[in-house]
Amino acid sequence: MSCQKIGIVGSGLIGRAWAMLFAAAGYRVQLYDILETQVDGALLEIQKELHSLKAKGALRGQLSPEAQFELISGCTDLKQLVENALHIQECIPELLQLKRDLYAQLDEVLESQTVVASSTSTFMPSLYTEGLKQRSQMLVAHPLNPPYFIPLVELVPAPWTNKETVESTRQLMLALGQRPVVLNREVQGFATNRIQYAILNEVWRLVGGGIISVEDVDRVLSDGLGLRYALLGSLETAHLNAPGGVADYFQRFGGEIAAVSASYGPTPDMRNEGETLAEIASQCEELVPLEALQQRRATRDEFLTRLSTLKRQL
Ligand code: NAD
Repeated sequence: MSCQKIGIVGSGLIGRAWAMLFAAAGYRVQLYDILETQVDGALLEIQKELHSLKAKGALRGQLSPEAQFELISGCTDLKQLVENALHIQECIPELLQLKRDLYAQLDEVLESQTVVASSTSTFMPSLYTEGLKQRSQMLVAHPLNPPYFIPLVELVPAPWTNKETVESTRQLMLALGQRPVVLNREVQGFATNRIQYAILNEVWRLVGGGIISVEDVDRVLSDGLGLRYALLGSLETAHLNAPGGVADYFQRFGGEIAAVSASYGPTPDMRNEGETLAEIASQCEELVPLEALQQRRATRDEFLTRLSTLKRQL
């Protein structure tokens, strides 16, 4: 159990989740936000959430909710936040100029042992670290929402990120009980969103083309492929699906995969396909009305908690 210091910049949805993950593993966490009231509110929310997780049997780590909460404090000064920090997790809004300004500020105060990881879902690290003195200590550590229940973290280096920075962040994520994956070089969308968008594009085309309903196309994942994918990825799935493993699988099915793939059609620009958007929105809202979204999110979180417990047993 460690008592090293972690700094979190931005105390919104993702910043709060990281604070809880680090505290669950025994790290001392300081939460910083440009809005002081936001930090106070975040601390209150974290305290409530830790007790609620305990009551549901879903609290992570060995420490009580009280002991975890004691490890988390607020901070109103960026310089103070980085002092003696092992790791800074940046969680400010997804606006490139905001990130650029913050990283330039961090560059002035960062100590040589401190890694800065961005939670960004979309910005490659080179977009806001180029030209900085301490850029070799900076990378992306992208979580999936909700990070408390989904263990994947994508680690994405800029061309100038140190190998040691990537490896120490990977070790830190493992110490939290997260499951880091490492991209060898940055690419738009990282790995998760590239795959997620490929699925979204095809789902869009299938519904837009009148081939299948929203309910049924989502069921293809939730009652079909997704059940496998909670255990195996698509390559291991292929490996298990032919007598001679993955090489045999692609020899047998590669022609069919190429033929189907050639029929996909162009990439939709979802902002400009009003008719399909209206149809998808109408069917989605029939399934889950907007006023029921919060309830459905709670069901998702409860399901993911149980699923992660099951996965840990395998
Ligand atoms: P959010 O809006 O909930 O929280 C952002 C917080 O940052 C706010 O409290 C705001 O006051 C604070 N802030 C703004 N500017 C700041 C600054 N200069 N210094 C310090 N604090 C500042 O946002 P979020 O949903 O928590 O997203 C944070 C990051 O995490 C984004 O980069 C986003 O892409 C990424 N992310 C989000 C999700 C998600 O589902 N929400 C999932 C994965 C990654």
